[in-house]
Amino acid sequence: MIDQMLLKSEAENIGVILDETALGRFDRYAQRLVEVNMHLNLTAITEPAEIVYKHFLDSLTVLNAVTLPDSAQCIDVGTGAGFPGAALLIARPDLRMTLLDGTRKKLCFIQDTLDELGLSADVVHMRAEEAGQSGKHREQYDLVTARAVANLRELCEYCIPFTRIGGIFIAMKSVRSEEEIAEAQSAIRLMGGRIDKILSFTLPQAGERTLICIKKISQTPAKYPRPSAKIAKQPLR
Ligand code: SAM
Repeated sequence: MIDQMLLKSEAENIGVILDETALGRFDRYAQRLVEVNMHLNLTAITEPAEIVYKHFLDSLTVLNAVTLPDSAQCIDVGTGAGFPGAALLIARPDLRMTLLDGTRKKLCFIQDTLDELGLSADVVHMRAEEAGQSGKHREQYDLVTARAVANLRELCEYCIPFTRIGGIFIAMKSVRSEEEIAEAQSAIRLMGGRIDKILSFTLPQAGERTLICIKKISQTPAKYPRPSAKIAKQPLR
């Protein structure tokens, strides 16, 4: 379905080596995405080359931004059809990956896909602000990712509570917005984070991309994350 050689060489260009098994799994993932998308709204991106660039390679840029030890504990918040989390797991099957979303339908797609690919992850149907208050998930993860879930200020309240001290939260954005970053400064600090680096680059066939990498330097106070209505109505300033 996809041009596996294209994926392999473009992944190499961003420093990610994909073996035959990974390429086969990406191919099957793309097939299932297109098949299931016919009756379940998973993605607007269904052209094979676009899937390669805008879903798979975009997801893999995370591996270029952070060095993850074997078996690192990761969570993808608002994973939807599995981006970036499931794509990261295909590239790095050693990762202990949690895929979290508040929408069950998409998670069924993910679970069935992972079963078919012979991969395992913890697929969790929960809202981020609830999971962030549970002992099972709070401050447990070396890497927290989120793509296209919320603005950075809200995202920090959703995601930094999951990060263990010393771990990294990567917010995946398209165009770099200094205003969005400035607005999120208080939230980052209050949640116990500090901006580590901001990587802005052009992803071939996809456009501008920005990875905002936030390091967790101190514990998140117990009252965060707040319930979702509060997060929306009373943004952190
Ligand atoms: N990350 C995927 C991607 O980039 O393709 C999906 C993006 S989709 C636009 C946003 C996803 O975030 C949806 O699946 C939605 O259910 C989920 N979501 C939004 N807010 C959430 C929350 N507070 N807790 C859990 N999931 C959330």
